[in-house]
Amino acid sequence: MSEKIIILVGPSGAGKTSFLDKALGDYNQLKDIITYTTREMRPGEKEGDPYHFVSKPKFEELILEGFFVEHAKVHTNHYGVPEHLIREAWAEGSTVIMDIDIQGAETIKKKFPQTVGVFVMPPNLDALRQRVISRDGQKPDLEVRMKNAELEMQKASDFEHQLVNDDFEACYAQLKKIIDETLEEG
Ligand code: 5GP
Repeated sequence: MSEKIIILVGPSGAGKTSFLDKALGDYNQLKDIITYTTREMRPGEKEGDPYHFVSKPKFEELILEGFFVEHAKVHTNHYGVPEHLIREAWAEGSTVIMDIDIQGAETIKKKFPQTVGVFVMPPNLDALRQRVISRDGQKPDLEVRMKNAELEMQKASDFEHQLVNDDFEACYAQLKKIIDETLEEG
């Protein structure tokens, strides 16, 4: 049984979450990993959806316990991937799909070289800014997110696939091809 991971990587607001949700609805062979974060819940979010929300001291305790296969500070908060959830998904015969940031994707690729990285980018930075504002409002970390987005875009070629999210359906069709190929290789 192969142990595969598909990582959706790219700037916050590029559309990774929408692609991930759609792919999970279309493929029951895929399993996403609910990661941990210290950030505040946004309206409409709840514990376990889309994150396990924990305090900073609890997060630090989990780091010391070796709970995370990868953890990173992204923008102004901490995020981490629990290793046992990846192993459990594989044990069930699933292929893991995750939405994490660049630092996390690089760590996961080192640890699990069979990882397939898909870099999702916005058509341009202005479009990204508009998407982030319409999702989050003018939050204090907006400029940090935009600066990080610029830096992240320069790393797109480090990943196996690059998708430009200018048209959701067209871009999703390309993602489906990548998923199909990954599952077939299984
Ligand atoms: P947001 O706060 O907008 O939900 O997510 C911010 C960023 O954190 C996104 O780019 C998301 O992909 C990334 N992220 C979510 N979970 C993890 C994780 O466990 N590790 C890392 N390194 N990044 C994560």
